[in-house]
Amino acid sequence: MQFKDIEGQQDTITRLTEIIDSGRVSHAQMVLGATADGALQLALAYLQYLCCENRHNHDSCGECPSCKKMASLMHPDLHFVFPNAATAKVDKNYWSGDFMPEFREFLLQNNAHGTLDEWYAHLGIENKQGMIRELDAAHIVSDLGLKSYEGGWKMMVVWMAEKMNPAAANELLKTLEEPNPGTIIMMVCENDERLLPTIRSRVQTIKLKAGSRERRTTADTEFAGLLVSWLRLLFKLKMKELSAQVDKMATLNREQQKQFLGYTLGVMRDCFLHGAAGLPVDLGSGDQKFDAMFPTMVTVNNIEMIEKALDEAIMAVERNANAKIALMQLSFSMSKALKKR
Ligand SMILES: [Zn+2]
Repeated sequence: MQFKDIEGQQDTITRLTEIIDSGRVSHAQMVLGATADGALQLALAYLQYLCCENRHNHDSCGECPSCKKMASLMHPDLHFVFPNAATAKVDKNYWSGDFMPEFREFLLQNNAHGTLDEWYAHLGIENKQGMIRELDAAHIVSDLGLKSYEGGWKMMVVWMAEKMNPAAANELLKTLEEPNPGTIIMMVCENDERLLPTIRSRVQTIKLKAGSRERRTTADTEFAGLLVSWLRLLFKLKMKELSAQVDKMATLNREQQKQFLGYTLGVMRDCFLHGAAGLPVDLGSGDQKFDAMFPTMVTVNNIEMIEKALDEAIMAVERNANAKIALMQLSFSMSKALKKR
């Protein structure tokens, strides 16, 4: 898979290739978006680019031995886990590896565009709930622990990561905490709200532009002003002004508060990726200086703290906690995190 085969993601692709070219590749990443929109394609093109011996023009060459093995999904250092269930042929101690020939065939047939339901139909388990289990997670750990065959990256693609059961997620968490050098876990996830927050906060998220070329929705545009005025106050920490701002944010209803916090999380992850590549982010502030400055505040030193603070605030809102207290607490945590950049 080459980037040129993927439609409508050019900004994201340019940013990703710049990060790879600069050598700052994160060990744990997640493409967030629908497979039908190209999320798995983006993950595969990313890994192919990473391994290509002759990258040019923000794309892999498609012709070197590594590209050819990646394109046929036969690269010996490329591993997959995905939701699976017992079939007529395999019904004991099964894991993704038992279904790899079928999965490879499935991806090649539909150009890595097929949905989960289509995969179940392909495997003949339409009436079952597929899952990623402990045995899959154990293979992730052991496969990534092996020496690389080709001397380069060892890669694990976790397709539909939200289908991990809790035991698998906990097993994987250990690997995310202490990744082996030279390994990369690339998750593809359609709904990251179903992932453990501890997993979410340990992966660098690449958000797919869904369907359209416009990333920001109408609600996002409305949130932009609120977010920027709040961010500005986090640097000053003048209590009276901050308290007035929090009052304003607390007038949103619970659902809007959750959306606003989710929006903020997305913007912070964008800032992290852009900041690493030295690029501005369109925060919707109408202030180019701020848009260029703010992303540099979100770095590898504080992105986890920021994501954790936002996760906790989202959970507090879900629990019906007092919104003003939760948002004030979030303001302090964010302010502290931003100082640690
Ligand atoms: Zn190549």
